[in-house]
Amino acid sequence: MSGDIPYGPDRKPWKETLHPAAINPDGTLMVTAPSQDPAKIYSYPDKEKVTPTFYQVPSMGFTANHTKKALDETSTYLNTQSDNHIGYQVAYGDASQQVAKDYLHAFLNNIGDPYVPGNYSIHTKWMERNVLDYYASLWNAKWPHDDEDPETYWGYVCTMGSSEGNLYAVWNGRDYLQGKFMMTDVTGRYPITTYVQPKPKADKPNAFTPVTFYSEDSHYSFMKCLAVLDVMSFYRLGTELYPDDCPLGGDWPTEVPSEGGDSGPGSIDVDKLYKLVEFFVAKGHPALILLNYGSTFKGAYDDVKRIGETLLPMLKRHGMDERWIEVTDPNKPDEPILVKRNGFWIHIDGALGCAYMPFMKMAFNQGRTKIQPPPDFDFKLPFVHSICTSGHKWPGAPWPLGIYMTRTGLQLQPPTNPGYIGSPDTTFAGCRNGLSSLVWWSFLSQYTYEAQIDRLLYSLDLVKYAYEELEKVQADIGEDLWINYTPLSLTIWFKKPNDDIIFKYSLSADSLVINGEQRGFVHIYLMANKTKANVDSLMQDLRAPGAFVEEKREKKWIRRARRADVERHITDLHDGMIVGKDDKGLKKGVQPLYNWPLSGRGFK
Ligand SMILES: *Cc1c(COP(=O)(O)O)cnc(C)c1O
Repeated sequence: MSGDIPYGPDRKPWKETLHPAAINPDGTLMVTAPSQDPAKIYSYPDKEKVTPTFYQVPSMGFTANHTKKALDETSTYLNTQSDNHIGYQVAYGDASQQVAKDYLHAFLNNIGDPYVPGNYSIHTKWMERNVLDYYASLWNAKWPHDDEDPETYWGYVCTMGSSEGNLYAVWNGRDYLQGKFMMTDVTGRYPITTYVQPKPKADKPNAFTPVTFYSEDSHYSFMKCLAVLDVMSFYRLGTELYPDDCPLGGDWPTEVPSEGGDSGPGSIDVDKLYKLVEFFVAKGHPALILLNYGSTFKGAYDDVKRIGETLLPMLKRHGMDERWIEVTDPNKPDEPILVKRNGFWIHIDGALGCAYMPFMKMAFNQGRTKIQPPPDFDFKLPFVHSICTSGHKWPGAPWPLGIYMTRTGLQLQPPTNPGYIGSPDTTFAGCRNGLSSLVWWSFLSQYTYEAQIDRLLYSLDLVKYAYEELEKVQADIGEDLWINYTPLSLTIWFKKPNDDIIFKYSLSADSLVINGEQRGFVHIYLMANKTKANVDSLMQDLRAPGAFVEEKREKKWIRRARRADVERHITDLHDGMIVGKDDKGLKKGVQPLYNWPLSGRGFK
């Protein structure tokens, strides 16, 4: 550590920038000095044109001039990058979102349950409830929410996007399949709420151990959900307990294969899913099935309807369509209660697709598009348990927000009922962003169904335009650009161009194995806030000489060392089992605790 390292916009030695309040009477410091110059340690790609020292915050503060210089530089950067951006499925800048500016003077906090007013009165829960009703109706749920009616929907607007929606779904599904129930003990001075969980019977030891299934095209948040909530994936359980019995033959795949693998459209292979689910259901495990409706990289749709209809008879054969669960109230151990529950949970990750697909169907019914409507995915299907979506993807917002929705009868009940906030703690976060519900409501109040359809058709036209333009570039430069598109999606993926182009347009890059060859791809998303001019600009750059020349990266973006850390840790745990390495570079005989997404689709 050195107080002599230059720090802050004036490049004075750090110790000279230190506020006297941080110096103890004996001359020692109350705070630590930098051990290296952060400007040299952190990654500041030249392309960003950001001056690292502008942002180092000295404890004596900035001059007004320095603050302005830093903010101006940041504004210029953000404006340029936002204008050029065409890589990800986010939309922003809509006039309906500008309304947010007028509400920044209040701390809008929708803490607690959306349907129960709490003690914190500066909230927008009436807007939140109406946003939720809108989507409940669109997704064919029974609405409005009614605590007394288990068939009605229940949901909330998330603080994060679909990562939180997925997390909540896995939590909800896990507890439901583990047979947990909430009990409130009212015999004491204060009511005490606890979870009770039945013990499995000796002949059905797996009855309350759910196993999770999702496809290789799924979002990396699923892996985190499993890790955080300690839920078994079929891969983990299969490799640990049945290494030689994978029903697909060979080694257990880490995820359910997608149709046609990397070369396919990205939807889950239903036959393989069936075989994998049956293997575990036959052993008495309940199944937690996570499906995609608009996957991250390819925009692919799992055929939810067909999956439910195919799996249900098989689940029924194994007594897993519905089952009786015996719950015992600790205060009345002699009067067990029998409750009926499904032995499976189907969650739909509709981060992008669930928010616009209903409008695709309306456009089709109106004869405004010939594109076939997508498969049904929503609460009209009795086997769908939960759905989530990301509001910043569709319709768009200037920050992350989302919806988690389930049926009231399946609702996860809170382990506590804090008197502190006065509203049941049914959501994941504590404080929840009330401005999110406000901007979302503001969008819905300004866009009719017709306007949503127009917006979608505009995006689809842009997709068609971009596809045709890419084909022209391909013909002009005489190079196969591996252009690909999943019908109904708003994305096109093609050969990865050079790093300057990836940076300029914020393209999302990934690699796929096609015909045994590892190929680099990028995708673009043609969201409704983009124009033909955005496409034209990209095409012009793709036409330039060297556009598709691979560059050496100055710096590895992903810290590969992480994998080594994991390996070391596992090796310690499994000492003595090591015999060589598998293709993931892990020692053979050592199973990763879970597959950490170093390079998953859409991760970068
Ligand atoms: C974007 C995305 C997510 C995660 O959503 P966030 O809003 O980034 O949390 C989850 N699933 C899919 C399919 C996605 O595309």
